[in-house]
Amino acid sequence: MYDVKGQLNKVRQSLPNGVRLVAISKFHPAEYITAAYEEGQRVFGESHEQELAQKVKVLPPDIEWHFIGHLQTNKVKYIAPYISMIEAVDSLKLLREIEKQAAKADRVVRVLLELHIAEEATKYGLTLDACRQLLADGEWRQMSHVQICGLMMMASNVDDEAQIASEFQTAANFFDEVKQQYFAADPHFCERSWGMSHDYHLAVQHGSTMVRVGTTIFGPRVY
Ligand SMILES: *Cc1c(COP(=O)(O)O)cnc(C)c1O
Repeated sequence: MYDVKGQLNKVRQSLPNGVRLVAISKFHPAEYITAAYEEGQRVFGESHEQELAQKVKVLPPDIEWHFIGHLQTNKVKYIAPYISMIEAVDSLKLLREIEKQAAKADRVVRVLLELHIAEEATKYGLTLDACRQLLADGEWRQMSHVQICGLMMMASNVDDEAQIASEFQTAANFFDEVKQQYFAADPHFCERSWGMSHDYHLAVQHGSTMVRVGTTIFGPRVY
């Protein structure tokens, strides 16, 4: 088995105080998650509803699950009863559905708004203007079962560190903008989820509070 425990501890030691680690366990077996759990890791991220449902069944109940993938509205009802955070909210429609299903489950689901800053045309997420629009529209203020806790983004998958850094900084500046404009009095709006295996060192230099690291901890994924 891949040295999950050793790798996990290496990643942890490299993170400054105040940056949380979401261990991205998608496509890895439950025993890998157990290994990390035994080292005290409690926050894990998955991107497929069915895979997540199977893992939830067999793993300890005190794990905090983050949904990090693109979530279809028709899948929200399956995860709303137990999900701790939905990281990639990229439309008002999805936000509405989370509110509806979380209300049914009688819980509050924490969410992040996903920004599209990277150059790739295929990536999901809200442009900065679409995000401004969503917040200005104000419907989210009526939602008592979703709590908007911050922003999430993925940088372009390139080697150019200057470009990656500039995308993280754009996200960090945007966070400051919306924090000031909409969430100045809301301590829950505090998360900046950026940084993956290949770029989390850079992400923490640009305001990340939450890194999503998979491959470095669990090894390459077998799809
Ligand atoms: C898979 C995934 C990650 C983890 O990527 P690694 O390169 O394995 O660290 C982080 N964020 C999102 C949104 C992902 O889908």
